[in-house]
Amino acid sequence: MRLLLKILGGALLLGVLLLLVFLIPAHLQIRSVEPGVPTRPELRELLGASDGPVRLRYVNTSSQRLPTGELGHTVFVVEWANGDLFMIDAGMDVPTAIKFGRLVETTLGAGEATSHGTISDLLGEAVARVEGVAFTHLHIDHTQGIVPFCAARGKGATLFQTTWQTDLQNFNTTEAEEIIESSCLSRNGIGSEGLISVDGFPGLGVAALGGHSPGSTLFAIAVGGHLWILSGDIANSKADLVSDTGKGFLYSYVMVPENTGRTEMLRGWLTGLDAESDMTVLVAHDLTDIRESGLAEYQR
Ligand SMILES: [Zn+2]
Repeated sequence: MRLLLKILGGALLLGVLLLLVFLIPAHLQIRSVEPGVPTRPELRELLGASDGPVRLRYVNTSSQRLPTGELGHTVFVVEWANGDLFMIDAGMDVPTAIKFGRLVETTLGAGEATSHGTISDLLGEAVARVEGVAFTHLHIDHTQGIVPFCAARGKGATLFQTTWQTDLQNFNTTEAEEIIESSCLSRNGIGSEGLISVDGFPGLGVAALGGHSPGSTLFAIAVGGHLWILSGDIANSKADLVSDTGKGFLYSYVMVPENTGRTEMLRGWLTGLDAESDMTVLVAHDLTDIRESGLAEYQR
C-alpha cells in the first residue's frame, strides 16, 4: 500500500514538473512583451486622415450560444473609397469551426457551434479586393480561415504583422504560424513601437499589445469621425472587460499562458477608451456586443 502511494506520488510530481517545464518558457516569453500603449491624441490623429476608410463591417463565420449571450468567430472588413479591403482575422473553415466549438463547449459551457461558412464563401467576389490582411493574434480560431481565403484569392494580398507577432511563438501559436508561412500571403513587418500606420491604408492604426499572446495586436479604425478599436481576445466578453474580470487560473496559467498583470492593465485602459464618446472598443468573440454596437454585418 505504501509502495503504491509512493508510485502514485512520484507520478504526480513528475506530471507537475513536466507541466512546469512546458509552461514556464511560455510565461517568461509573454512577460517580455510590455510595449507602451497609444495615447488618446495619437489614436484621434487617425480621425484626421485624408482618404480614410469609408466603412467597417463584421462577418460572423461561426457562432455558439453562451449562458450570457452569443460567442462568435468574427472577421472585420475595412473598406476604402477605391474599393480596397483590409481583413482583420480569418475565422475557420467548417470542420475546424465545429472541432474548435467542442473545446468552447467544455471550457466555457457554450452550446453547439454553427459554422456559417468560410470567410471566402461569406465575402464572395469581394475576396479579390482584399489587399491587406492582419491578425489580432495567431490562435487557430482567428487564422485557419486563411486556407480557404487563399484558395479563393490566390496571391496578391499582403499580411501586416508586428515584430512580436512574427518572431514570438508558443505552443498555442506554432500551428497558425505554419499555416501562414505556407499561405498565399506575402508578409510585411511593421515594427512594434507605438501606434503604427500602414502604407496604403490611411486611417488604420496598429499597436502591439501582448497580454493574451505574445503577438496580440490592436487595430484602430477611423470611420466617419468615430474610432473603432478591435481588442482581439484581451477579454472574452465586453462585460468581462468593463467589469475587470480575468479568465481564471486554469485558462491564464495552463491552457493559454497569459501575462495577467498586462491583461489587467489593458482591461482598464480599453474600458477608459470605450467610455469616450468618439470611441467604441470591440471584443473579438462577443457577437452580442458587436451587434449592439451598431456596426453593420457584411452582406454579400
Ligand atoms: Zn479567440
